[in-house]
Order: sequence, then C-alpha cells, then structure tokens
Amino acid sequence: MERPAIAGGKPVRETKIFYGHQYIDEDDIQAVVDVLKSDYLTCGPKITELEQKLCELTGANYAVVCSNGTAALHIAALSASVGEGDEVITTPITFAASANCALYCGARPVFVDINPETYNIDPQKVEEAITPRTKAVVAVDYTGQSVDLAPLLKICKEHNLTLIEDGAHVIGTKYNGQMNGSIADMTMFSFHPVKTVTGGEGGVILTNEEALYKKLLLFRSHGITRDVEQMRHEPEGPWYYEQVELGYNYRMTDMQAALIISQLDKLPMFIRRRKEIVAKYNEAFSNMPELFVQREIPESDTTRHLYILRIVSEKLTIDRKEFFEALGAENICCNVHYIPVYYFPYYEKLGYHKGLCPHAEKLYEEIITLPLYYAMSDADVESVIEAVKKIVAFYRR
Ligand SMILES: *Cc1c(COP(=O)(O)O)cnc(C)c1O
Repeated sequence: MERPAIAGGKPVRETKIFYGHQYIDEDDIQAVVDVLKSDYLTCGPKITELEQKLCELTGANYAVVCSNGTAALHIAALSASVGEGDEVITTPITFAASANCALYCGARPVFVDINPETYNIDPQKVEEAITPRTKAVVAVDYTGQSVDLAPLLKICKEHNLTLIEDGAHVIGTKYNGQMNGSIADMTMFSFHPVKTVTGGEGGVILTNEEALYKKLLLFRSHGITRDVEQMRHEPEGPWYYEQVELGYNYRMTDMQAALIISQLDKLPMFIRRRKEIVAKYNEAFSNMPELFVQREIPESDTTRHLYILRIVSEKLTIDRKEFFEALGAENICCNVHYIPVYYFPYYEKLGYHKGLCPHAEKLYEEIITLPLYYAMSDADVESVIEAVKKIVAFYRR
C-alpha cells in the first residue's frame, strides 16, 4: 500500500527525483573511448587541449588541470606559499576542502561569517579578520553566485594576500561581464559529477601569473622539473630531471580530460537550462512569505550549481528537518549544503566551536538544496514546486 505523504494525500510524483545528476551523451562516451584506443592515457594531448580550452573559456592566461578540485586547492595554497603557522581566511558555508587545503599546508583556517542574504563571505568581515599571520583568502562562490570579487581583491592587494577563488560551483558565471576564472589570483573549478561540467573526477587552477603557473606545475607532479631554468645543477644528459620541491601526483588522466572537453562543448546548453530552472523556482517562491529567495548581487550573472530553498522558520510550524522529510515523502530527494565546516569533530578537536559565525549557523538551520540539473524536465521542475507549495500550505503558521 502506498504511504500517504506527510503533508497529506498522494505524493506529488510517483518516481523519486534526486538533487543532482550528471548528463553524459554519446559524444562524451566516444571521446573517452577514443583516448583508450590512443597512445596516451595520461600526460597526453588531451591535457594540453583541455588547459587551452579552459583558458579560452575564462580568459585566464594559464590553466593547470588536476586529479580533482581538492588537489587543485592544495597546490594553489602551496603556490601562495601558505605554510606552518599561517592563517587562511574562508567561509564556513562550504565543502570541507575549502578549509582543509590550509590544514594540508600546516596553516590555520580562520572562518569569517557570510552575508545573511547572498550567503557569500562578507568582505568587510574578511578585512577585520586579517592578522600579521594571514597569507591567503579562499573565497567560495557558493551555489554558483560569484563572491563580490572587487572589494576582496582590493583588501587582498592592500594586505599583500593571495586571493584563491574556490569556484567549484561557479563555471559559467560572469562577474561584471567577465567569466569567473580570470579575476582572482587563482581560481579553482571542480569537475565532480554533481557539478555543472564533469570528468568523473577532476579540477583545475586558473591564473594569469606566470610565476604562480610554474609553481603549480611543480606541485602537481612531485616537484619534478625538466626545465633547465628551474634546475639547481647542469643537466647530465637528455634523460635528466630534478626534484626541486616536495610535490604530489595530482595529475589528471587523458580520459578525464577528453570527457571534460566534450562536456564543455555543452556548457552553453547547461547554462541555459540551469538558468531556466532557477527562474521558474524563483518565480514560484519569491512572493511566498514562508520562503526566502537567495539575493543576487547585480555584479554576478549567475549560472547556479545549487538551488537553495530557505524556510522562514517563524512562519511555519515545522523545522527544516521536518520540511526535508516531507519533501522526501513527496519523492523529492533533497540535500543540505552545507554543515558549517567548523561543526565537524575534526575541527572541534582543533579548538573551533559553535557560535563563531551566527549568520552561517542560522542559514544552516533553514536550508534545503532542491533538485537542479540539466536533464530535469519541466514536469520534474513543476513537481518540485508543487511539493514545496503543498508543504508550505499544510504547515503555514
Ligand atoms: C566539490 C567542491 C570542492 C571539491 O572538489 P572535488 O573536485 O570534489 O575535490 C571544493 N569546494 C567546493 C565548494 C565544492 O563544492
């Protein structure tokens, strides 16, 4: 027997819909198969082709693709000379990797509160958190909306800090008409399957500065160089190379690169569809007092990676957990992005505690990530809207 939905009656849809899903077509599959039949599975021509394509897309001078976005953030922090005893400022409303990259380098993440309406890090609070130990700022484009880069760049310049943009969500977004990726000192994209463009796993760091580019290349591949200018000794022969830093193996395979190249050809189509869906959600929810719609800054022409439904707790008789469960009972499977990073036991152990960032903590209590991905049909979108409205109507205070 069918279980009634929590908000009464039959569920709005019979089949489950998930919050995110990759879109892979025959071109994508063929691109990967072609690499498997070629001479190079790694360090081959697809890597260079992808790096060039990402530079063209964003206008950045250099791109260094990596095995995943987290590895990309790690080498960005290393290239910014983040080390033992340094501090790195970031937001708590993000995936743990944005802060972990500081810990990898022996530095301490310093969490700064968000703007309560845009949900991105508050530049003024960034400035207040700077100390003589601060080395870098990791600014996250949460949901795909660009952080306000202009004030952050100004602050970083004044205090001699490196601005690393965690753009895991941002591909396709423009800030003041310019694609994100060429504005901060370094920008990371992730190609995890829930992101707008995927390679299974994968990441990139984009930069305009040659000195940073050279460091990134070293850290990506064991700290090893074949460039005579970077060597300490005379080459002993054509086989010769040197390890001059302690780097890692964070290389991407050519199969990943081929898949990402093929996916990037579909980016305009992904952008269009995501914007359409977000417009439908915004239209449906913006005049409902029980819901708060994320505020957009005019500088950001946003391609949304995540759609955040925020409930106004005072106007409903249920909390976020109950709302989440009610959506599940309607066969709308959601998620929550994010648990504030410093809530995690590992961070607790390092001395962080609740109460650090009140706006972020309040946000976490009220948010649900709704389904948003290219392959959603209009009927899927309508069923999500219908379910949200049904639950609000049922539990309105
Ligand atoms: C996905 C994500 C990452 C990590 O990217 P991976 O490619 O999964 O390593 C980092 N930061 C944010 C905000 C993310 O969403």
